[in-house]
Amino acid sequence: MRVVIQHNALDLLGAAVADAVAGRRAFIVTDANVAPLFLDRATRSLAGSGFTVASKILPPGEHTKSAENLFALWQSFHAATISRADAIIALGGGVIGDLAGFASATYLRGCPLVQVPTTLLAQVDSSIGGKTGIDLSFGKNLAGAFHQPVLTCIDPALLKTLPDNERVNGMAEVIKYACIADASLFDARDLDVIIPRCVAIKRDIVSRDERDTGERMILNFGHTLGHAVEKLSNYATPHGHAVAMGMVFAARIGERHGTTPRGTADTLATRLRELHLPVTTPYTAAELFDALLADKKNLAGKLHFILLERIGRAVIVPFKPEDLRQFLVSIL
Ligand code: ADP
Ligand code: ZN
Repeated sequence: MRVVIQHNALDLLGAAVADAVAGRRAFIVTDANVAPLFLDRATRSLAGSGFTVASKILPPGEHTKSAENLFALWQSFHAATISRADAIIALGGGVIGDLAGFASATYLRGCPLVQVPTTLLAQVDSSIGGKTGIDLSFGKNLAGAFHQPVLTCIDPALLKTLPDNERVNGMAEVIKYACIADASLFDARDLDVIIPRCVAIKRDIVSRDERDTGERMILNFGHTLGHAVEKLSNYATPHGHAVAMGMVFAARIGERHGTTPRGTADTLATRLRELHLPVTTPYTAAELFDALLADKKNLAGKLHFILLERIGRAVIVPFKPEDLRQFLVSIL
């Protein structure tokens, strides 16, 4: 898997895709906010490198990650005579990346996927690592596949048009990387430094545990409780907000558990507030605990919780559910 990170990389997309796939057709999947901004440039670059380009513009928002749109994409791929040698290109944020990724993983038993992430969250996190999927009526990301992109083309200049709230959302994941792997990211401001560093950390972790059975779990720092918060809010709480709350909880639990040095949770909360991220939830310990137990990842009576040994280093700690409940009660 190749990753290109460069200003105006969007204009080099055609050349990079030509190097990555054997076919000469490209199918771009994007959303209605991103299309007017970048679809023409992407199409021109691909056409300039000899590709016949087709595209589909979907509505923006999490609801787009549906089984209906997955079917619709398969049909569109067929109509565009996409073969297994051709490129499916996800041009957008995490929603488009997940949906187009799953469509490419499943069409003809797998077509080459190219990720062109346009949100900070997608550039630092979701476009790397090969997780794809859709939401089902009974839960988020419940159907999906591991499908590594052949190319991820990251153009930080595309973030200029990103709304502030989406930038804030992405910064929660950046702070996650600071916490689990690189303390120097904690106060970093320059996206040209932040993006490559986060990508390098994620690639490194994923390369050692592609299928998420071990070390990759540390990428879930802040996410176990974050997912519980998202669920309790009926997904009205943005992912980054939920992760911010989850990280502070995890730090507080770590402090009580004796793994995390005292004061870490407060330091973390201060930095997250500076970034305009929330650090407390309206939910009770009982509500959080119930939501947490229902999570698909928390199976077989053992909960793996990610704790910090310090900012910059995370460990996976197995908890008995009852012990975790006690910790939750004690911090809330
Ligand atoms: P995420 O990447 O956080 O998972 P989405 O894929 O839902 O989220 O994208 C968040 C929102 O930002 C969507 O409404 C999307 O259309 C919009 N968007 C994505 N990229 C850009 C961009 N570069 N400029 C402006 N808006 C964008
Ligand atoms: Zn996340």
